[in-house]
Amino acid sequence: MIIEAGSNKRITIVGGGQSGLQLGIGLLDNGYEVEVVQNRTAEEIAAGRVLSSQCMFDGALSHERALGLNFWDDVCPTVDSINFTVPAPDQPGAKAIDWNGRLDAPGQSVDQRVKIPRWMAEFERRGGRLTILDAGIDDIEACARRSDLVIVAAGKGEIVRLFERDAEKSPYDTPQRALALTYVTGMVPRPGHSAVCFNLIPGVGEYFCFPALTTSGPCEIMVLEGLPGGPMDCWKDVKSPSEHLARSKWVLDTFLPWEAERCRDIALTDDNGILAGAFAPTIRKPIARLPSGALVLGLADAVCLNDPITGQGSNNASKAAKIYLDRILAHGDRPFDAAFMQATFDAYWAYAQFVTGWTNALLAPPPPHVLKIMGTAGAAPTLARRIANGFNDPTDFFPWFAVPEEADLYLESLQAAA
Ligand SMILES: Cc1cc2nc3c(=O)[nH]c(=O)nc-3n(C[C@H](O)[C@H](O)[C@H](O)COP(=O)(O)OP(=O)(O)OC[C@H]3O[C@@H](n4cnc5c(N)ncnc54)[C@H](O)[C@@H]3O)c2cc1C
Repeated sequence: MIIEAGSNKRITIVGGGQSGLQLGIGLLDNGYEVEVVQNRTAEEIAAGRVLSSQCMFDGALSHERALGLNFWDDVCPTVDSINFTVPAPDQPGAKAIDWNGRLDAPGQSVDQRVKIPRWMAEFERRGGRLTILDAGIDDIEACARRSDLVIVAAGKGEIVRLFERDAEKSPYDTPQRALALTYVTGMVPRPGHSAVCFNLIPGVGEYFCFPALTTSGPCEIMVLEGLPGGPMDCWKDVKSPSEHLARSKWVLDTFLPWEAERCRDIALTDDNGILAGAFAPTIRKPIARLPSGALVLGLADAVCLNDPITGQGSNNASKAAKIYLDRILAHGDRPFDAAFMQATFDAYWAYAQFVTGWTNALLAPPPPHVLKIMGTAGAAPTLARRIANGFNDPTDFFPWFAVPEEADLYLESLQAAA
């Protein structure tokens, strides 16, 4: 354990999810006094609804491993590749695009109902103070009085409205997808290695599935993203877990027969293995001023919330926690003022702007150059592999995925090499 110069500092983190607990544990290991304020007990989280599909790739997982938080490596199934499929528009049951790109290192998804309670216990075991409280403004004022730094990592909690929406960085002000999760057992594995099987149904939405670890053991997670008002925006009248499962199967039967085929005998992992909802992707200003004048700093989803279409939120949360940890350690004994807070968020945004740009782009109908890239990858394994590994580090998509001329240049260079 390294004791840093700033280790007499007291830091409070409001929200004990992926980013809050990871940062809290990192700070504890460096000798800081850390309190995490969390609005649900470990038992409530473990026995509650699923929260996410939380597929994480190697870069993000490496930050958990560095803190000794990778408790499930032996039991969690691996995600070995990305498979991308588009159904043929005029030939029912046929595929217009279908390719697979191997990940250089596997990903994994540990149900947050498993991970977060375990991390809460670990946080306390390493000396952290865990307070169970649904923090409001007055509580955060109290945190600010007793701390050198307050970080709000409350995800999609109401309290994050403390932070002003950054309209310049947030192109959407309404939800862009109707979201649903269905955790199941009994899905037929894809042949060969495992994958995030990502299906894009033009004008309808997206469906992806991958293996994961849930409260009862290995499972598969189905993620359904329907365009608002379209046929996959179909959850509002669903009244029971069995109806939710039946509706998930209906989507596959209707649009993706090859995925339906894998799901003939699926069953829900548990009645809480379902979720349906929608939210607007929102970037917020990273610093909020409390009525007393005290400043607090936002972390991860609290200030940088993206649609799950690219499966990046937990990855972002892990990377943000790592960047904030490094900045806090490097700051030593100096006060955590507005300049520190802004620079810390900016260091994260230098990375996250690319994830946000890529994710927001995928929410819009694909422009011709993206269709060309995705269509070419079937015949170009190097390209398929690069796209797959872009999920681990989306900065690698830029500029060639975003700028048509760059896409042409890159595709030409691949052709020349072939
Ligand atoms: C349908 C869906 C699918 C997803 N799939 C993926 C995926 O495949 N891959 C991926 O990387 N990401 C995915 N995500 C996103 C990912 O789950 C989140 O981005 C990630 O958990 C964010 O971490 P966080 O620390 O910011 O917030 P969270 O993990 O949400 O933690 C916030 C914590 O704060 C607590 N809290 C809230 N308000 C208060 C309060 N007032 N006081 C005290 N505590 C409070 C909450 O209870 C929670 O424990 C998905 C999300 C959804 C909705």
